[in-house]
Amino acid sequence: MVNLLQFDRAGLGDFCEQLGEKRFRATQLFRWIHQRGERDPAAMTDLAKSLRDKLATSAVIEALPVASEQVAADGTIKWLFDVGAGDAIETVFIPEPGRGTLCISSQAGCAVNCRFCATGHQGFSRNLSSAEIVAQLWHAEFDLRRRLGLAPGERAITNVVMMGMGEPLQNYAALVPALRTMLDDHGYGLSRRRVTVSTSGVVPMIERLRDDCPVALAVSLHAPDDVLRDELVPLNRKYPIAELFAACRGYLERAPRDFITLEYCMLDGVNDSPEQASALLALVRGNGGADSGLACKINLIPFNPFPASGLHRSSPARVAAFAAVLQEGGIVTTVRKTRGDDIAAACGQLAGEVQDRTRVAERSVRAVPVRIQRRPEAAAGARVRSAP
Ligand code: SAH
Ligand code: SF4
Repeated sequence: MVNLLQFDRAGLGDFCEQLGEKRFRATQLFRWIHQRGERDPAAMTDLAKSLRDKLATSAVIEALPVASEQVAADGTIKWLFDVGAGDAIETVFIPEPGRGTLCISSQAGCAVNCRFCATGHQGFSRNLSSAEIVAQLWHAEFDLRRRLGLAPGERAITNVVMMGMGEPLQNYAALVPALRTMLDDHGYGLSRRRVTVSTSGVVPMIERLRDDCPVALAVSLHAPDDVLRDELVPLNRKYPIAELFAACRGYLERAPRDFITLEYCMLDGVNDSPEQASALLALVRGNGGADSGLACKINLIPFNPFPASGLHRSSPARVAAFAAVLQEGGIVTTVRKTRGDDIAAACGQLAGEVQDRTRVAERSVRAVPVRIQRRPEAAAGARVRSAP
């Protein structure tokens, strides 16, 4: 049985052809699935009977089993979905006045292994399929419409951020059809500006996304120089900041917005000093030449602790001082509000359940000893996690 959630509309057209049906029928079918949340082909009354009959024997619209659901005091909802073989992934809905944002996972675990991230800490199990990525949106949208009593046509989810578990650009083949389904006017109809891919900096895939499906881009920077970024985001050793910024400048030529969002997780005594703020300002401003700097907005994310991280959140005063340096330098800088931390749904706390399938030998090669220098006064009692 083929799960129809895996297809974007073009893919569904191919599938209809394989069944001996006209391609254009895919549009009707796509609308039933993604605009009305219908799972039963027999209920799709305006579809040709021949297609309904064929679908009944060859296809399913298979959602993900919900392992648990938690609602935070601030209304944030976190779903844990069972994706089989001991893996579970998390999806978070963040309600705000006038909009609803869904934070979607792209992998069970993550291989990038950033020092400050609960998902990275768990290791990597596998890529999610396009169907599993879309199923998170499908479930959330239609579950919320029922709960909120929305009228037909009213949308619960207005924004999607690929900021859940995993590195979306290390699961590129599955990501792109899922993004197309989100953007499709016959699907979820989200504008490119309201769908954000967040990446730790997979340079070749930033270049491909620019050509295949340019949505809003957020880049997880976290450090103003390569020495520190190498430690915090190990992928930087492969794609250092100069290459990353060059790819971002290229991306901007086709991006739906005229800036890249840079995410910067504020770690007490690690990357949050006023000197580091000045270095970051100089980095994004560049030296005035076309080949440096980056048109960006900076989003500071106070570190969300998780067990065994050994790291600490910067104090509000330190975050404010850091932001002030950037703002005075003319860079739009915001501090991300922490949402849903009472149910461990905040950035970097998503851990689901992941069977680490990377061999221990491989992981210890990948992880180098950490040499982060902390301010002496912040160092007491804190230890950066060493190689697993
Ligand atoms: N893999 C992608 C997207 C998922 S993480 C990426 O790294 O961009 C989404 C954001 O949360 C990233 O900016 C990530 O660096 C940040 N993050 C990870 N762990 C965090 C933590 N413990 N506290 C705050 N932000 C964190
Ligand atoms: Fe992976 Fe992103 Fe976490 Fe880094 S921050 S380990 S890239 S999910």
